[in-house]
Amino acid sequence: MEKRVPLRKCLGCMSSFPKKDLVRVLKTPEGEVIIDLSGKKSGRGAYICKDKACLKKAIKSKRIQSNLEVEIPETIYLELEKELSLANEQ
Ligand SMILES: [Zn+2]
Repeated sequence: MEKRVPLRKCLGCMSSFPKKDLVRVLKTPEGEVIIDLSGKKSGRGAYICKDKACLKKAIKSKRIQSNLEVEIPETIYLELEKELSLANEQ
């Protein structure tokens, strides 16, 4: 039987992608915001596909912070940008 691939929605383009094609921003149970590259940590996740335009859109619309109901530190956005640059170089 074929395995179902879990899909998550990118907060930039609002399209659904397999989890592995997205970068996960996580709010931990302690309320800390981190980038979860393993995708396995517990907490509440928001997703961005590996497209810089989507990150920009998500930042501008403040969708990540409203989705996670937490203020997103500037460092997280910078880190995300770095992750996406690396992903796009491959
Ligand atoms: Zn997207």
